[in-house]
Amino acid sequence: MDNVEKIKDRLNIVDVVGSYIKLEKAGLNLKACCPFHNEKTPSFFLSPTRGTFKCFGCGEGGDIFSFVEKYEGVDFKGALQILAEKAGVSLEKENPKKVDEKKRLYDVLEKATDYFENNLKRHKEVLKYLKNRGITDQIIKKFRLGFAEEGWQSLYLFLKQGKYSDAEMEKAGLVKKSEKGERVYDRFRNRIIFPLFDNSNRPVAFSGRFFGKDEKDGMVTAKYLNSPETILFSKSNILYGYNFAKMAIRKKNFSILVEGQMDLLMCHQAGYDNSVASSGTALSQGHLGLLKRLSNRVVVAFDGDKAGFISACRATKLALVEAMEVRLMNIPDGQDPADFILKNKGGWQKALKEAKHIVDFYLDKLISEIGDRRKLGQAVQEKVLPFVALIESEIEKANFVENIAEKLGVATKVIWIELNKINKEDFLSSTTPYLKQSLGEKLSSKDKKNKRQIILRQISGIYWWQKNLENPVLNLEEFSKEVREIIGEEVFEKIENLNDKIKNEIIFEVEILYGDFEDTDKKIRELFKNLKIELIDEKIKDIIIAQKKAEKAGDKEEVLKHLKNYDELSKQKNKLK
Ligand SMILES: [Zn+2]
Repeated sequence: MDNVEKIKDRLNIVDVVGSYIKLEKAGLNLKACCPFHNEKTPSFFLSPTRGTFKCFGCGEGGDIFSFVEKYEGVDFKGALQILAEKAGVSLEKENPKKVDEKKRLYDVLEKATDYFENNLKRHKEVLKYLKNRGITDQIIKKFRLGFAEEGWQSLYLFLKQGKYSDAEMEKAGLVKKSEKGERVYDRFRNRIIFPLFDNSNRPVAFSGRFFGKDEKDGMVTAKYLNSPETILFSKSNILYGYNFAKMAIRKKNFSILVEGQMDLLMCHQAGYDNSVASSGTALSQGHLGLLKRLSNRVVVAFDGDKAGFISACRATKLALVEAMEVRLMNIPDGQDPADFILKNKGGWQKALKEAKHIVDFYLDKLISEIGDRRKLGQAVQEKVLPFVALIESEIEKANFVENIAEKLGVATKVIWIELNKINKEDFLSSTTPYLKQSLGEKLSSKDKKNKRQIILRQISGIYWWQKNLENPVLNLEEFSKEVREIIGEEVFEKIENLNDKIKNEIIFEVEILYGDFEDTDKKIRELFKNLKIELIDEKIKDIIIAQKKAEKAGDKEEVLKHLKNYDELSKQKNKLK
């Protein structure tokens, strides 16, 4: 038995999910208000016999592992660790020494955090500084802020009493050896300490902000100093504040990304508890992956100066590549988010509400800065169009092109040509092989919102459910004939060849929806109708895009052809309705 099986064998889904949310009985199954989207009546179901869950509101579903991944905001490995602990399964059996070592490192980091926290209580001048910046006692306590004193070995000697070895302290990133290795000294000295936590709220690293004069013995001291990468800390996988923001990001369905620790603290203090900070390290794809797991939408709020804007552009680019929906907040010139939110909470709220897509943001910025039309055109071409090229949706892209053309006072055709130069391939492939997209593969968050995908899943579920019943209530032959007519033989074959795991999942889904056998026929009619409408809508979308392109190319014949097709499809759709 591998670890996953062992864990599944020892834990049942009712206990696991029940430890996070309140469950009610619903026949053979259990139900609850979904933890992954806001709702008042339960559409989240749990099957104890199958060991799976499914929400009919937002489409989330899976087993205990996917539940923990989603709920805790961790990846599969993280979920495995959490569940292994619950199940009492040891993952690193082959190397108990390593498990021990990790435990020691967590311990020493916890002790160090404690030590720094106590220091802060004694150093009133540091506390006063934090208070002056507007930080409250609660936030200091919650985020466990601390202070590293001036001496070279304060922490070192303290930990030494606790029987930690030099090697352990070094591995935890707390101390450094002098060049020749004869002396060990504290890495953080005279710094305000911001601990970075993992998903289980354990400190795994520190960021230290220099406190005091900026110069010392003629040497400029770095304003911020971070722990090095360790066994427990990898820069690209930890965002400051993420452990406290997970729930709120999911509930509010967006995250706010800031740069600095102070920004982050002020955001949380003001109730924007869905905020996280990249905190000194360069934002990575890994960071965005953490956010995307919880919500596809992110608002970037960086300093209102040139450097802040450059970082914001970089973050936006990364987010667009991840196909995230990203917007930028306009922070007043020369302010950072921390000042802004402290001095003008209403202004902050307004700026958040008015956060813009990068294309609009950049375009408006350039228009306000550059008077000369020719120069403006050039700047837009160089700076804004590459962002347009990164946008996935063709419709959205077309809207931006129109908007840019209008604001610059040039023909849309010109913009398309320039855009074409940036990303030609994208424009050549115009149609998506909708139905070929496989049914069974793991759905991306985008697909979950895709109606066609959901209907198709239900139809497949009904098919397999009835097929497995001793006395099916449906005439399966007729049913499958009709399905084949709508979706085509090729896709139907996919339904026939689904693997057992997915079959099980979809059968469970339809059992809940159709298991009472009430109005089954009517419900199925409705499904077929909706699927037909969806398929027509998708064709219509394609036609609109093709027609826009033909219009821009000045091809009247093509335009007419598309218009005719459009009319035809609209008629078909109305008939169905
Ligand atoms: Zn849900």
